[in-house]
Amino acid sequence: MPMQHARRLWIKAPAATLEPSYAGGIVITGSTISELIPAGASPSSPVDEVFDAAEHVLLPGLINAHHHFYQTLTRAFPAALNKELFPWLKSLYPVWAELSQEMVEVSTQIALAELLLSGCTTASDHHYLFPRGLEEAIDIQMAQAERLGVRVHLTRGSMSLGEDDGGLPPQKTVQEEEVILADSERLIKRYHQSDDGAMRRVALAPCSPFSVSEALMKASAGLAEQYGVRLHTHLAETHDETEFCQQMFGLRPVDYLEKVGWLNNKVWLAHGIHFNDEEIQRLGRNGVGICHCPSSNMLLASGQCPTLDLEAAGSPVGLGVDGSASNDCSNMIQEVRQALLLQRLRYGASKITHQKVLDWATRGSAACLGRDDIGTIAPGKQADFALFRLDALRFAGAGDPLAALVLCGADQADRMMVAGEWRVKDGEVAGLDLKRLMARQRELAAQLAATV
Ligand SMILES: [Zn+2]
Repeated sequence: MPMQHARRLWIKAPAATLEPSYAGGIVITGSTISELIPAGASPSSPVDEVFDAAEHVLLPGLINAHHHFYQTLTRAFPAALNKELFPWLKSLYPVWAELSQEMVEVSTQIALAELLLSGCTTASDHHYLFPRGLEEAIDIQMAQAERLGVRVHLTRGSMSLGEDDGGLPPQKTVQEEEVILADSERLIKRYHQSDDGAMRRVALAPCSPFSVSEALMKASAGLAEQYGVRLHTHLAETHDETEFCQQMFGLRPVDYLEKVGWLNNKVWLAHGIHFNDEEIQRLGRNGVGICHCPSSNMLLASGQCPTLDLEAAGSPVGLGVDGSASNDCSNMIQEVRQALLLQRLRYGASKITHQKVLDWATRGSAACLGRDDIGTIAPGKQADFALFRLDALRFAGAGDPLAALVLCGADQADRMMVAGEWRVKDGEVAGLDLKRLMARQRELAAQLAATV
């Protein structure tokens, strides 16, 4: 049998690109990018197919570095409205404790569809609820990600410090530490791919200082090191958390992180807001990644992440939509705009450009996830990209097309490719009946709300 020839596709001459070096487009061979085409030039050898991108802006696929897919079931949840993090969580924990297998399956599809349609090719999720009957929540998520063709970094979240032991979550939402560690090991062995181009990776993610024990933080770090997987958690999100850490551990959050063996470049943190200057330097020196979640931070009135200071100190900075109960959407390109607006308040207009925030959502998020095979458009990198049209009302009269995406508030990609496969075409997710899915999500959200 002759070797099958890998299909060569030229995405020809986009209306705009993030870098001028491929103004003439890119050639995809199989699952990777094989050639960058300068303005006005053609590919060096014949291609099988040409996609004329004259009406499209080409971006590297956006990478969402922090989310909780299941929270799409509790968007704008009445009992949680207008609250800050701790009271917001206390309103929602008892609801989330009633999640079923079908709820995880459907909410995962909803979140992934929303991410795909907003230009996101790689998504990380932080699932930390495993009530009885839902022990295989991550397995359910893995199956849905594979079905929709999204590249995922699914974290095995955990909560082990319940109210009875001084933690924030109710006792019925926490698990025994041996159960958590055994399941973490099972998931790594079953799903984690360490090679270049991996479609699924596993990371370990004890939920936060106020919901897991010191022993579980340390044991998770040991297990992650043993298997070469990354570590993720929420840190320095609110003043309440800092106070909790000082009372419970006698330490500020970063000191606690160091004590449990997490101050290294295998770790990325969600939020990272309340750091002092010395802590920023220490995080940067150790290469700890920070996923900035601007919408969530504004909605819960948590504060502003010191992004540029962290970057200058050496920390990779990425972006995440965070869970859809504190955003309450999962739209990645809109999160890019939120990052620009919020960070301009801190650092001024000239330092926070549209290119800067797009860089966080692509290369920066990839670095948080420990990858350099995605997040940029270059030969040999994965063929993960998004194409946006600029013909909606909101773009009418726009000048710079790349800036228009961010400043006019693009909200939907027209086309998306992951690992050389089209996953969104003409604004639709391949192989998904969105209407039917949304109807089922509405029913399940109502069922969940009725449990409390
Ligand atoms: Zn979160």
